[in-house]
Amino acid sequence: MPKSFILALDQGTTSSRAILFDRNGQAVATAQRPFQQIFPEPGWVEHRPEDIWNSQLGVAREVLKKQNLSAAEVAAVGLTNQRETTVIWNRRTGEPIHNAIVWQCRRTADRCDALRASEWKEKIQEKTGLVVDAYFSASKIEWILDQVPGAREAAEAGELAFGTIDTWLIWNLTAGRIHATDVSNASRTMLFNLHTGDWDEELLDCFRIPRPLLPEIIPSSHVLGETEPSLFGASVPLGGVAGDQQAALFGQICTQPGLAKNTYGTGCFLLMQTGPEIVRSRHSLVTTVAWKLGAEPIHYALEGSVFIAGAAIQWLRDGLQIIGTAAETEALARTVANSAGTYFVPAFVGLGAPYWDQQARGTITGLTRGTTRAHLARAALESIAYQTRDVLDAMSADAGISFSELRVDGGAAVNDFLMQFQADILNVPVTRPVNPETTATGAAFLAGLAVGFWRDTTQLETLWQREQTFVPGMSDDERSLRYAGWKQAVTQARA
Ligand code: ADP
Repeated sequence: MPKSFILALDQGTTSSRAILFDRNGQAVATAQRPFQQIFPEPGWVEHRPEDIWNSQLGVAREVLKKQNLSAAEVAAVGLTNQRETTVIWNRRTGEPIHNAIVWQCRRTADRCDALRASEWKEKIQEKTGLVVDAYFSASKIEWILDQVPGAREAAEAGELAFGTIDTWLIWNLTAGRIHATDVSNASRTMLFNLHTGDWDEELLDCFRIPRPLLPEIIPSSHVLGETEPSLFGASVPLGGVAGDQQAALFGQICTQPGLAKNTYGTGCFLLMQTGPEIVRSRHSLVTTVAWKLGAEPIHYALEGSVFIAGAAIQWLRDGLQIIGTAAETEALARTVANSAGTYFVPAFVGLGAPYWDQQARGTITGLTRGTTRAHLARAALESIAYQTRDVLDAMSADAGISFSELRVDGGAAVNDFLMQFQADILNVPVTRPVNPETTATGAAFLAGLAVGFWRDTTQLETLWQREQTFVPGMSDDERSLRYAGWKQAVTQARA
């Protein structure tokens, strides 16, 4: 039977999805299932690991059925996942000893604050490339081992297994035969030493995590095994694994150092590929593994995020109620020639990179009697582009690379006004691909490369198609003037 498809499993924070890709890298069928979010206390977030697995298995079967395909027609499975979320289970029974602690969960914030106030702050950043935070897995693992009676002893005796969501799914897809994580996911645990490419003994000691708990670290594109035959009716090679943001970076074919992608959603997620050298950030950005393709060296990335992006548009809709839908902002912003000196700094929850100011608050400057809702909508869209420039400027400075193009995806990337303004304010072209499913595409590409379904990254470049490129059209003077106005407004938001 010809093996004409790659099955991508995209395990997200609120839903599990499965997408089938053909040889042209086109998505031919999709299935999606949401699952329950559990909030045991304010600021705490959990998932049931069984829900994650069952929904993921369910959509994988559903998408094959939709296309009337047998597993024998699938060349490989690629996996991408919500990152940092932590599961610990019993190796013999496969049963989790606690709910999954989700990346958003703040239950270990105090522990991380204490670490940040100690000599560990520098040490952890130097070893892992991360800024000490409760997001990452290490403090979550420690918490479970502390809270579940007997867990630490059982972990020491090798009876338990830890995994991020990739590891949990690999374990279940292989009926417990493989306990592994890819390097990109490993780099989000705060236990992975970027310099040695392995778990770091000193960090394991710091968090009191027994080494037998940890999975084997594998490349992102690599045949790690086969799925259990009974799951899909035949076994399928597991060929690709990467965290969601890294998969999106690969799905956008940011395979050359200096290429960057931005996902415009509630917030923005920016990653710039920096090549096989580790770049240490001087702006508190995160240094992370981008991927490892087979035996090739690890490639790294700088990562930064904008807390409030599309959420500023939601606020115009739900808070101020001056628009009916997010999409309306595009036409509304175009009804005025410019924002008439209005700047909107949506620092609702403080400011992230490169300011790192938790005290900053949302600010609108330059209001006059002539300011209308059109100016406000325009200023809100512009704020997304300015914040993106802030992060990209920091990345370029850290990496010593001036980047040549920004590749975009996410819900707000459909806004042509925003994309044009982004190109203008960055003075680099902004490219939106035909295929918006960049995360699942990245997982499919990684898996397809591993089994020879696609030859190399050069071939993948031909599959990635531009829908539209927004070419910068603003004069240097105007750009400088406007960006200076933004910086001024940020200063006011911080005052
Ligand atoms: P997430 O994955 O973070 O939930 P999505 O990628 O689904 O986000 O994008 C939704 C966000 O994008 C919302 O915050 C919404 O306000 C914003 N958004 C959606 N469509 C548009 C649009 N046409 N113009 C501007 N913002 C938009």
